[in-house]
Amino acid sequence: MLTIDLGALAANWRALAARVAPAECGAVVKADAYGIGIEAAAPALAKAGCTTFFVAHASEGVRVRTVLPRATIYVLNGLLPASLPLLIEHDLRPVLGSLEDAALWAKAKRLRPCALHVDTGMNRLGVAPGDVAALARMPLAVDLLMTHFVSSEDAQDPFNDMQIARFGAIRGQLPHARTSLANSSGLFLPQKPFGDLVRPGYALYGGNPTPGLPNPMRAVVRLEAPILQTRVIEAGARVGYNAQWTAHRRTRLATIGIGYADGLPRAAMATDDRVGGEAMVAGVRCPFAGRVSMDLTVIDVTDVPEPDLKGASACLLGEDIGIDELGLRAATIGYEILTRLGARYHRVYVG
Ligand SMILES: *Cc1c(COP(=O)(O)O)cnc(C)c1O
Repeated sequence: MLTIDLGALAANWRALAARVAPAECGAVVKADAYGIGIEAAAPALAKAGCTTFFVAHASEGVRVRTVLPRATIYVLNGLLPASLPLLIEHDLRPVLGSLEDAALWAKAKRLRPCALHVDTGMNRLGVAPGDVAALARMPLAVDLLMTHFVSSEDAQDPFNDMQIARFGAIRGQLPHARTSLANSSGLFLPQKPFGDLVRPGYALYGGNPTPGLPNPMRAVVRLEAPILQTRVIEAGARVGYNAQWTAHRRTRLATIGIGYADGLPRAAMATDDRVGGEAMVAGVRCPFAGRVSMDLTVIDVTDVPEPDLKGASACLLGEDIGIDELGLRAATIGYEILTRLGARYHRVYVG
């Protein structure tokens, strides 16, 4: 069961908005609001005061528009000719990311608002700084000039200063556009590169924007699975597919009803060579034992005193075990954990 705390989501947005004021705080709700559900997340954010939203695809923008008729919605992935009709019909603003995008928008929809993405180092999307002067002469209503950080989660990385400087150097070429640089971690950089509008995603959903430091955000997702059965095995017995985990003591195991088909990463498996993920049972951290299978995972509940655990809840994500921690245990990042939380779960919205 996936419980999504919309109150925590709203509180996270308010905390970030207060941090950057008087700059505006937008919200990135791409990838189904990082897996928690656009249709629930966007209205909750709007109720907290958010008026500007970013999505990756035009189709996601349509979903935001359906629940928020008056919001400002930017489509980050640029302009595909096939998406033009959707953008127009639903009043979505493309983030132009190339000269081709700009030419297409200028020709098709002269003077409808759009954003311009300038590439200051990522080499992924965006026009080169040297092309901004030419773009400024095109018949475009660029209302937002933006760039995206390469490694804002590392405050020491010299890339941050370099990107801020490159952006500052072209900013004057579109003096009427508002500016936007920062993703979640950018909001915590000492340079305070907030511009006029910030674009947090991950931190809104409870991810830690300051890796290595305590997480200033509230947990938004809680992931629980029921204990299906328990058993006791002797020292030396092995657990799971290919017998990759060996009990070093008489061990009580619990089999829980969640696996990789639910978005629990298989890479969080525990083997004799590798520590895996953990679940909380009755307030005790219980390590995974063996491989994560499609629908099932086995955990070591030897240290849980309760005699009867059938039907009890094992909590894989929540206040105690965050998405960053599970990401680390699965050799990935919390972003991937969040966005993989499968559609298989029964979702419950609270707050
Ligand atoms: C995804 C994205 C964001 C949000 O990043 P977080 O690290 O999740 O806060 C901001 N800007 C752009 C361009 C993005 O693609």
